[in-house]
Amino acid sequence: MSKVLYEKDIQKEVLQAKKVAVVGYGSQGHAHALNLRESGYDVVVGLRPGKSQQKAEADGFQVLPVADAVKQADVVMVLLPDEHQTAVYEESIKPNLDAGNAIAFAHGFNVHFSQIVPPSDVDVFLVAPKGPGHLVRRTYEDGGGVPSLYGVYQDVTGDAKELALAYAQGIGSARAGVLETSFQEETETDLFGEQAVLCGGLTSLVKAGFETLTNAGYQPEVAYFECLHEMKLIVDLMYEGGLENVRYSISDTAQWGDFVSGPRVVNDETKERMKEILAEVQSGEFAKGWILENQANRPQYNAINAKESKHQIEQVGKELRELMPFVKQPLQKDEKNEQK
Ligand code: NDP
Ligand code: MG
Ligand code: MG
Repeated sequence: MSKVLYEKDIQKEVLQAKKVAVVGYGSQGHAHALNLRESGYDVVVGLRPGKSQQKAEADGFQVLPVADAVKQADVVMVLLPDEHQTAVYEESIKPNLDAGNAIAFAHGFNVHFSQIVPPSDVDVFLVAPKGPGHLVRRTYEDGGGVPSLYGVYQDVTGDAKELALAYAQGIGSARAGVLETSFQEETETDLFGEQAVLCGGLTSLVKAGFETLTNAGYQPEVAYFECLHEMKLIVDLMYEGGLENVRYSISDTAQWGDFVSGPRVVNDETKERMKEILAEVQSGEFAKGWILENQANRPQYNAINAKESKHQIEQVGKELRELMPFVKQPLQKDEKNEQK
């Protein structure tokens, strides 16, 4: 089994002596900056003028234009949306990195797919929390943490690995487990996971179940509860105790149905599609398509997004959730953007 590291395995001194610039204050940025500060590290936030800047200032941070924050810092964590990182990097980050500084990322996409080519005289590492930014913050406040992967792309000072580990400790991940990876492995597994399982796989599975029931004439409300609402309750059991815990809690009838029908929904053909998705991630085909989609101002992304928001499951869900006040309100629109 790979070695998972915890608080006791990590030296904090290497990062305590340094100033960290957190660039961006969205989903990950706010969580990193606040957790690092509360863990005793010295943080400055780099931003353009705007909403995030006001939020970071209200949270008590020194907020500087990205170029100035980078100039002041020894370690620069880039927490901008992946599709904007290259432009900000070229304009404001690269010219202000000194030899022996470190540049860091929470996802390997731009470095792995050559959109950012860091200079040869800086350390380059990643600390990728395996969870949404708002939970990186919430679990830290609750005394826990979200696990992280860390990886070193370039080590010029000899300290890159220790820096990455201390950074992971600072955001709370050493409470949950920190595991070594490479930029390649993090990038490819992250893209595959979100496409095939966590995001694409899950939303398509829920919609397909909902549509099958409503097309057969069942009430949309019943279909919503069955295929979407209850998903969280099942996933909580899985999170707490694996598949075994789900199967312990459900009825034997449900468990028998799980055994005989699950493999007919997710079958060999599904796995073939998963292999295709993985191959497109590995070859850079997916990355190229997403980079070009952004350069074209997202025509397909916007069209699909508009269509998806009109799906019946979204309409009926909204009405039902209003009647369940204990279900947490969805993130506000601006928070939602940050969550991405
Ligand atoms: P968000 O979209 O939530 O946050 C973006 C932040 O960058 C905002 O504060 C925004 O400020 C700022 N920003 C955007 N453009 C610029 C610009 N041109 N100049 C200066 N600031 C700018 O990003 P995420 O937190 O989702 O993602 C950050 C990184 O973390 C990505 O690499 C992502 O892959 C990775 N990651 C994200 C996860 C998540 O949970 N979301 C999970 C794991 C990794 P403004 O208000 O001014 O727009
Ligand atoms: Mg991702
Ligand atoms: Mg049931």
